[in-house]
Amino acid sequence: MSDPVVGVLALQGDVREHERALAECGLGSRRVRRPEELAEVDALIIPGGESTTISRLLESFELLEPLRERLRGGMPAYGSCAGMILLGRELLDGRPDQQQLSAVDAVVRRNAFGRQVDSFEADLAFTGVDGDPVRAVFIRAPWVEEAGPDVEVLARVPDVAKAGAAAGRIVAVRQGNVLATAFHPELTGDRRVHQLFCETVRAACGRL
Ligand code: GLN
Repeated sequence: MSDPVVGVLALQGDVREHERALAECGLGSRRVRRPEELAEVDALIIPGGESTTISRLLESFELLEPLRERLRGGMPAYGSCAGMILLGRELLDGRPDQQQLSAVDAVVRRNAFGRQVDSFEADLAFTGVDGDPVRAVFIRAPWVEEAGPDVEVLARVPDVAKAGAAAGRIVAVRQGNVLATAFHPELTGDRRVHQLFCETVRAACGRL
């Protein structure tokens, strides 16, 4: 059986960084901008960027419904930051016209770390990632305010003083084949989170 192909939603955001991470994990990637391209991939990464822009472009490129349908059908997906925002079921502090993909039963708060905190870094314990903690880079990041019963919490902001109101907040989740992180593993050299996703993709494709 040929290797699965992972799409990277290429409407806006840090597409190239995800492509590089996938290549380093040994999986081929393809940029997805149109429904025909979505139909050809086995999985999809929604990059970090600006969720309001990605949402608007999903509508104008007529990708929103096809993407919802693929997700309902169990396509593996991974969203970082803006990607997490889009994958959630409900959004707090979003724009009223922003669309949700509802692939993860989570209430996500956009720009949750506060306007004054543009970026924040922390070392996280991450379920499913062995070894050293994961260095997490948060850039105007969301967090998961509420996770449903089928959502597995994979990481939280550590309870350290500099975390302030973010301490203990949920920043990585998984539901079925869908993974979401509030931070950007594609921006560090550590490929363990992408590897975890690639394992999900390989397992899901093996089952088909
Ligand atoms: N704040 C951005 C949004 O609302 C997300 C930021 C990011 O992806 N780094 O989409």
